Amino acid sequence: MNIPAGAPSNSAARVGGAVDRARRALTCGLVGAPAFGRAAFATTAQTHRAPILVFHRFAATAMDSMTLRAANFEAQLRMLANLSCRMISLSEWVAWRLALAAGADAMLPPRAVVLTADDGHRSQYEVMAPLLRDRGWPITLFVYPSAISNASYAMTWPQLRDLAADPLVSVQSHMYWHPNLLRERGHMTPDAFHRFAANQLTRSRDTIEQRLGHPVTLLAWPFGLSDDGLAAQAAEAGYQAAFSLGNRSAGPSDPLYAVPRHLIVDSVDLG
Ligand SMILES: [Zn+2]
Repeated sequence: MNIPAGAPSNSAARVGGAVDRARRALTCGLVGAPAFGRAAFATTAQTHRAPILVFHRFAATAMDSMTLRAANFEAQLRMLANLSCRMISLSEWVAWRLALAAGADAMLPPRAVVLTADDGHRSQYEVMAPLLRDRGWPITLFVYPSAISNASYAMTWPQLRDLAADPLVSVQSHMYWHPNLLRERGHMTPDAFHRFAANQLTRSRDTIEQRLGHPVTLLAWPFGLSDDGLAAQAAEAGYQAAFSLGNRSAGPSDPLYAVPRHLIVDSVDLG
């Protein structure tokens, strides 16, 4: 996600809140459930919302706020398994959400959890993917193509192709070069910004589709930043849904082009 300097999400208060939210997300929502009680949450709301988790980097030690220690990640996976969380793909969550919007009486599986990872870090290939493959758990990777086979920290296209060959792995769009859209808008006329955003949306999708040969229909906003105008542009560009950051599990009342995801950081305490 690369939280930008000066953004509200960079404050100490927001980081502390993120840890609390992540802790709740990692327990399928069963801890810290709403005041109406754990039983009600488990029997009703649980099939109408699911925590969508977002990971970034993995390493032996946590060098920065976006890096999760590999041992901690493994412990988190064990805990999700011990709690009988049911991993569903992001596309399954979207299909459920679209079915609801179309008037169907659709429900998620109980204790559903969705895994995503952003930015195409190489450690997702080296550390994260083998652990998820062992468990048979699906994940959606949001990448920005300008970094792939280019930035030193990023995966290569052959590595992404290797991952995407697994039907449990989906590679989707994080725009073309991970722009801070709100900052870019401050530098441009409205028309120029509209063209800039449209280009980021379509160039990213077209590049991933061309390189990997599968449809790209989902978007994660860089830095989690968007607004109604950008949401409309994402829909115009053909995206089915777009994902942001937020302090709640994702349910039917969340806007389809600003669906919240829980940021998972190393300071999530499993004790
Ligand atoms: Zn990002």
